[in-house]
Amino acid sequence: MRRQACANGTRMNEHADQAAYGRSWYAATMLPVKPRPPLAVDLDVDVCVIGGGLAGLTAAREVARRGWSVALLEAGRLAARASGRNTGFVLPGFAADAEKLVARVGFEHAKELWALSQAGLDYVRDTIAAEGADGIDPESGWLYVSKLDNADELFRSVALLGDLGCEVEGWPTERVRAFLRSERYFAAIYFPRALTIHPLNYALKLAAAAERDGARIFEDTPALSIDPSGVRKRIVTPAARVRAGHVVLAGNVGIKGLLPRLAATLVPITTYVIVTAPLGAQRLAAAIGYRGAVSDTDLADNHYRIVGGDRLMWSGRATVWPRNPRRYRAALTGDIAKTYPQLGRVAADYVWNGTLGNTVHRMPQIGELAPGVWLASGFGGHGLDTTAMAGNIVARALVEGDETWRKFTPFELVWAGGVFGRAAAQLRVWTKRLTDATGERRAKAREAAQRSTSQPQTPNAGVDAAASESIVPPDARDEAEHAAQRRQDSEPAHQDSRQRAGD
Ligand SMILES: Cc1cc2nc3c(=O)[nH]c(=O)nc-3n(C[C@H](O)[C@H](O)[C@H](O)COP(=O)(O)OP(=O)(O)OC[C@H]3O[C@@H](n4cnc5c(N)ncnc54)[C@H](O)[C@@H]3O)c2cc1C
Repeated sequence: MRRQACANGTRMNEHADQAAYGRSWYAATMLPVKPRPPLAVDLDVDVCVIGGGLAGLTAAREVARRGWSVALLEAGRLAARASGRNTGFVLPGFAADAEKLVARVGFEHAKELWALSQAGLDYVRDTIAAEGADGIDPESGWLYVSKLDNADELFRSVALLGDLGCEVEGWPTERVRAFLRSERYFAAIYFPRALTIHPLNYALKLAAAAERDGARIFEDTPALSIDPSGVRKRIVTPAARVRAGHVVLAGNVGIKGLLPRLAATLVPITTYVIVTAPLGAQRLAAAIGYRGAVSDTDLADNHYRIVGGDRLMWSGRATVWPRNPRRYRAALTGDIAKTYPQLGRVAADYVWNGTLGNTVHRMPQIGELAPGVWLASGFGGHGLDTTAMAGNIVARALVEGDETWRKFTPFELVWAGGVFGRAAAQLRVWTKRLTDATGERRAKAREAAQRSTSQPQTPNAGVDAAASESIVPPDARDEAEHAAQRRQDSEPAHQDSRQRAGD
């Protein structure tokens, strides 16, 4: 693959349309692809899909595979929005928490939904096997790591996930730290069947597969208006019209220009991603001995993985109003330094952002809005399994009259609160970050107190203390010092630390 030098010393792929794909690692490593021409003549088809992200591409492919005619309209370039900019974790489940899902729809229903999400994950895996893994570089496994000493709570979730049919393991702190050498981390949930992928190259291969099956794809073709009344729907684009028996709306937050009221059911969340300069295998191995996906929160911060052999892809810092991604370069490299101080200073070669659409209930919007008008949207930060799932469900509903989509009817369209909804979402992110940080400080303090009561002083203790200085937060150090003081005063410190653990 030929590349050209960029101003910041990194190299960009000459195939990448930087205006569309941004200065991302994915754009720099994308497979060669020619732009598809815009729609120039009127068309009459069975299905018109609006949106060329992973939801629209999967739906178009699956409709075409079933023998119906399908045209996909993409306003810009394929997968240039969330689908080609995300962190690439293909996980089972949904953005909604499993426990809350069970509480909302009952255990059996939740189990069926989880099975559908896992079928979505399997679809991605099977597609990669069929279309070839080159450029997609799949890697297995996801570690969901806790920064709190809450193993009991975490292992209860493992039991629930297991009951829902998900393959999971609970990892104790020592095992986690053997792979992720960070003092910030405690126990984790391991998902062996999860995947990481290069989502942009996956989407491009999916598009090629859809075209092979007969789908017609048009880039730079925004749907400007829809007339959904009548048996044949009419879609107007800048140069031509489409008449279709069915329309699939898969525009995510970008649908705002076409259907503002529908877009108002999503809170747009923008997340920032960096890829570091090569770190060197040895230096990286001193911090991370695991090549799958890692998340250390479900909302605000750190999701990361190794890419390109010895670089780190790191994402976080969600905002509800998009900001210049360059402003987050320092914050994200700072997060790396805080988690893995042994890496020293790291430089970010690539920095970009992407916007996802969150629903109020954090479940996707899948179903028939009006006769012949279908919706596949609202996948939030959990879209790589669920877009595959939704594309299949909608295609089966259209062509075969399958009614699986009805399992999503409890998650109706809910207005996301407009500007106040956005402000509330931002507040939730900040609050979560704050509670995470407070919980983490307390957990570290308890651990430090435990260590100081259980370990005899050795000649190396000073060296260990110096090494941990940079990673133990100040409050934790205070706690450790107080614990040592209490020991000197013959206070029963172990009893005290147990009491605190029960706080
Ligand atoms: C930074 C980031 C990290 C993420 N990480 C992960 C992750 O690791 N794992 C995971 O599961 N999920 C992740 N997600 C979420 C995931 O990327 C999305 O949920 C998913 O890609 C949504 O796909 P989509 O097809 O619905 O939307 P999109 O990819 O946004 O595609 C919608 C397309 O519709 C087009 N469109 C809109 N309106 C029109 C119109 N009127 N006419 C024609 N075309 C139109 C747009 O141009 C766009 O290309 C992440 C998201 C972001 C932003």
